[in-house]
Amino acid sequence: MCIKYGIVSLITSNLLLYSHMLFNDVIGQEEVKKHLIEIAQSGTVPHAQLFLSYPGSGGLALALAFAQYLNCENKTHHDSCGTCSACVKAQKMIHPDIHYTYPIIAKKPSPHPSLSTDYIQEWRNEIIKNPYINELEWLQAIGAENKQGNITADEARAIIKGLNLTAFESTYKIHIIWMAEALAKEGNILLKLLEEPPNNTVLILIAENQEEILPTIISRCQLVKINKLQDDELAQGLLKKGVPQSNTQHIAYLSDGNYNEALKLIDSETDVDTRRLTQWLDFSINMKSGELLKWSEENGKIGRENLKVFLEYTTHIFREALLILHIKQYAARLSKEELNLAHRINKFLTHQKLESLLELINKKHYEIERNVSPKMVLMDMSLLLHKIIRGK
Ligand SMILES: [Zn+2]
Repeated sequence: MCIKYGIVSLITSNLLLYSHMLFNDVIGQEEVKKHLIEIAQSGTVPHAQLFLSYPGSGGLALALAFAQYLNCENKTHHDSCGTCSACVKAQKMIHPDIHYTYPIIAKKPSPHPSLSTDYIQEWRNEIIKNPYINELEWLQAIGAENKQGNITADEARAIIKGLNLTAFESTYKIHIIWMAEALAKEGNILLKLLEEPPNNTVLILIAENQEEILPTIISRCQLVKINKLQDDELAQGLLKKGVPQSNTQHIAYLSDGNYNEALKLIDSETDVDTRRLTQWLDFSINMKSGELLKWSEENGKIGRENLKVFLEYTTHIFREALLILHIKQYAARLSKEELNLAHRINKFLTHQKLESLLELINKKHYEIERNVSPKMVLMDMSLLLHKIIRGK
């Protein structure tokens, strides 16, 4: 499946902000969570694990949740507590016993070789915002432009040094290596550590391409496979983040098991439908029949599934408009653009007209499902909308 985007869209809207990383905050992956909780509970945590993760399926999110769980002071059989001092520090990514390595570019000018810790502030910012980020987005965030990110020999030696220190305040000293492919041959430096790990140390490597990891490393790690997310898991995750239900299934379908792609699609999908709805209302209110005909023809070609999503989206906007009309200080779940649209709708539609419209859209949704020609459905719908607006 090919999905194209222009610019990396803004996914920093409040509704998508992660404030913590419990297992419960990780989308789907119930079997992996169960496995990780079991090994933590039984006290048989492997010294080295390789999380082999399908892109955007949550390898890093699971590693963060696991690290937090291992050191939580009040864990249950299901999750970390989220409130003990260890959890609070893990969530802010400042726990003294949880360390991170990730691909970086050399910082210039610098008196010493660049290490991951040189970018720790950027790392915390980006990962707290989106633990499903991909390597390219991360490198863009640190201004790498078209430079390739590396995990250097110096970094590998720093990992060994750090893990050989005693844990400061927790049972486990944990080091997470994200995008371990970037180690390349420097992975050899870690072999001794993998063979003779200090007590209570946990090394978690996260990678997407098994063939780019040295076989000698793979053979010394316990493998945890993290498969692509199911559409239903993705849709549930999007719903939990405040995406209207009418959009979740469609976005999940388009993003093909990759939550990071799904996050990017949220804005672009909504934009397209917002534009579509704005046009439809404009042409109908002003009864521009030529334009309406063209609109019905063009949008009749977008495919039944997309059309259903559009109708569900329209219902969502009309419902929100109705609530704005009736509830004082109603906190609408709308973007700024959508909010303007809702206010415009309320200028020409009374409660009763809105109710009739919702009924009409519901009927048309059913017709699309029953394989009536999309163009016919849209033309009929436009005509009826005009009648409703005019109060006929
Ligand atoms: Zn806790």
